[in-house]
Amino acid sequence: MRTANVRTAGGPRFAHLHGDSASLLDRAPWLGGKPTGEALAWTEDPLLCPVSPSKVVCIGRNYAAHAKELGHDVPAEPLLFLKPPSALLGPGGTVLLPPESARVEHEAELAVVIGARARRVAEADALAHVFGYACACDVTARDLQRKDVQFTRAKGFDTFCPIGPWIETDLDPARARIRCRVSGATRQDGTTAHMIFSVPTLVSYVSHMMTLEPGDVILTGTPEGVGPLSSGDSLEIEIDGIGVLRLSVGT
Ligand code: MG
Repeated sequence: MRTANVRTAGGPRFAHLHGDSASLLDRAPWLGGKPTGEALAWTEDPLLCPVSPSKVVCIGRNYAAHAKELGHDVPAEPLLFLKPPSALLGPGGTVLLPPESARVEHEAELAVVIGARARRVAEADALAHVFGYACACDVTARDLQRKDVQFTRAKGFDTFCPIGPWIETDLDPARARIRCRVSGATRQDGTTAHMIFSVPTLVSYVSHMMTLEPGDVILTGTPEGVGPLSSGDSLEIEIDGIGVLRLSVGT
């Protein structure tokens, strides 16, 4: 099942997507939203960011080949950082390159959307707290990440957290191909099978630090092949079984 956030004449509405029809919900599905019986035709054009989380928890260096390309060892425990919700960007949006950075890079990632409050959940129970999955890009000002002690500035600019185009509930997060294309050229082509820490491990681990609320998001790390973005680029994040998150890059 695909859940999207659709722009309607009456404002943004969550909806289930069936072919070219959108079945509107009365609220977010992770808050118990149900179909109202209203339906409308949709295209990708009116889709908005499908999440409005209280927090976006990100995992660094969760693929060995990516840790190596940045010159890091593989972490013994998941490496956590946060992105502010103000960094969120929806499908069709423009990643804005800030003047404070000379090198902004793409990191294609699987986003996990929480469906039920999770506090100190066991790995075996973790997937029962997941609503679904989306494509995401952990946009990173690499020069600022290297300069600062921690990642808040480098990862936290407005538009640095695109997520979409919708949330897919039916996906095996342990075996999904994930790709990033920049202006048509494939930059990243990996699989979530190569994650060091699996989705159940990550949900459980994070939930031992902070309560995960319904609608919260975890970005699960990026495979190798990260590289720079330039103004005017098109940016596509594709995950088999979900779809393609299409973006542009500007200033
Ligand atoms: Mg990342």
